[in-house]
Amino acid sequence: MKKILIYLFIAAIIAAFIFQSCPDQTVNTPPKVVEPEKKVLQIPTFDKDSSFSFIDKQVSFGPRVPNTDAHKKCRTWLVEKLKSYGATVIEQEFKATQYTGKQLNGANIIASFNPNAPKRIIISAHWDSRHVADQDEKDKEKPILGADDGASGVGVIIELARQLKAKPTEIGVDMILFDAEDLGKDDVQTMEDMKTWCLGSQYWAANPHVAGYHAKYGILLDMVGATGARFAKEEFSVKYAREFVDKIWKLAASQGYGSYFATEETGGVTDDHYFVNTISGIPMLDIINKPLEGGFVKHWHTHNDNMQAIDKETIRVVGQLLLHVIYNENEGQL
Ligand SMILES: [Zn+2]
Repeated sequence: MKKILIYLFIAAIIAAFIFQSCPDQTVNTPPKVVEPEKKVLQIPTFDKDSSFSFIDKQVSFGPRVPNTDAHKKCRTWLVEKLKSYGATVIEQEFKATQYTGKQLNGANIIASFNPNAPKRIIISAHWDSRHVADQDEKDKEKPILGADDGASGVGVIIELARQLKAKPTEIGVDMILFDAEDLGKDDVQTMEDMKTWCLGSQYWAANPHVAGYHAKYGILLDMVGATGARFAKEEFSVKYAREFVDKIWKLAASQGYGSYFATEETGGVTDDHYFVNTISGIPMLDIINKPLEGGFVKHWHTHNDNMQAIDKETIRVVGQLLLHVIYNENEGQL
């Protein structure tokens, strides 16, 4: 009997020791998170040559400054092209006053795929080009071609439209080409100065093309064509659309595009997404080539923003990423 008690005593001490050495074993085991299996998708291949030709075509009209013949001709071409890919196209005309006092005849071009689908995303860019070359050394007062600043984003979008015709989605995709983005005051000091930019997006955000319009989110493309472009996480994009910035930049990294889609954050840009976010409340992020410090790339708002500034590999990376976004979103798995 005594022996049994001693054994029990020793067993109790051992048990207590084991219990103490791993006190939280059961509590600390993390619950198993079962990630939903992602469907493996056949994503179409973005055709960089096709996209490049769409940029070249816009530039061939000359500077697309409102009230000019080149602007009119380019508008006609954009509308016809987008219609030919099966989009329902709305030309939203508006009048605006430039900071110079000039009356502008603007038109936002909205190309919708599946216009009745309740779940929608926006892919956007500006189709006008700057009326002056204020960052250049010479011919400062002359308008620029804007191959990168304007035409590159539109060229990517038209190629996406071509791809959507070949492989339609169930979700709705609205391609919104804003007008009169780049006609603002160079030196932005106040909110009033800020509002001299992005006249088309300000108009659209206050007067959407469809009453009660809503989209899950929007992606703006601006200056997406230059060699070695660096798309850091821009301040207003992070502020208003962080969830989508994180998802899309993560997707870019998974595709090996991390050298383009830098994870650092960079300062805010007065771009169309700012007004869409603050006026319409639709979260919109900006994929824009902007160094971490200072202004923009060297050819920005100069006459060097011509077709020589366009690198097919950069537009391929941006376009291919957007195809991943669209078709993953279509499966509800972005
Ligand atoms: Zn610009």
